[in-house]
Amino acid sequence: MKAVIFIQLTKRQEAISQIVQENQPITGEKIAELLHVTRATLRSDLVVLTMIGLLDAKPKVGYFYVGIKDEKKEYTYFKDLKVSDIMGVPLIVHQTESVYDVIVKIFMEDAGCAFIQDKKDSFCGVVSRKDLLKASIGGGDLSKIPIGMIMTRVPNVTTVLEEESIFDAIETLVNRQVDSLPVVRLSEDGKTQIVGKLSKTIITKLFLEIKD
Ligand code: ADP
Repeated sequence: MKAVIFIQLTKRQEAISQIVQENQPITGEKIAELLHVTRATLRSDLVVLTMIGLLDAKPKVGYFYVGIKDEKKEYTYFKDLKVSDIMGVPLIVHQTESVYDVIVKIFMEDAGCAFIQDKKDSFCGVVSRKDLLKASIGGGDLSKIPIGMIMTRVPNVTTVLEEESIFDAIETLVNRQVDSLPVVRLSEDGKTQIVGKLSKTIITKLFLEIKD
């Protein structure tokens, strides 16, 4: 699926583009330093600028200027966005941790769900807030029930890969009627590694970023 998005660059995005043109290759940290802002502040701008193809990012090297400017200062982006471009950091817990401890972590980290790993650190399941509520009204001692007992277990969990198009992933998210999808990487030793999460909140924020 292709997306066509017209984006008017903000003043800060223009400034970043200028800095990269003059100093390429340049790291995100260095750009942040020159603009006197934090790296976190720049994150969404850099995502937008690489997304529309104005900048290119090389891991461990930095940002390069590609430049697809037109006179109206509008940039057309019709390359597929990948899950890895927008995925968030998930709450990961071990399957032997208690339901009680996971509830505490969900509050502490303001997460909507937790992804579970087995003793080999391979992804094995997911718990949502409703799963925790269900366990809470079940009457048992929550500090004695391992989270692995109440999770939705692999292979019944729908996952996505980093390189997948976000439009395909959004379709999966909507069709599956869940709040988030684990982003996984399959390693050579047969392990399923959790590398991120794609949630409805992240997608909503992306739309807001595009609007801004
Ligand atoms: P909530 O419980 O807050 O409504 P969800 O809609 O995400 O949140 O979860 C509903 C049910 O689906 C829960 O039992 C949860 O364990 C399960 N679930 C959550 N994410 C997935 C997923 N990616 N694949 C399969 N099942 C999931």
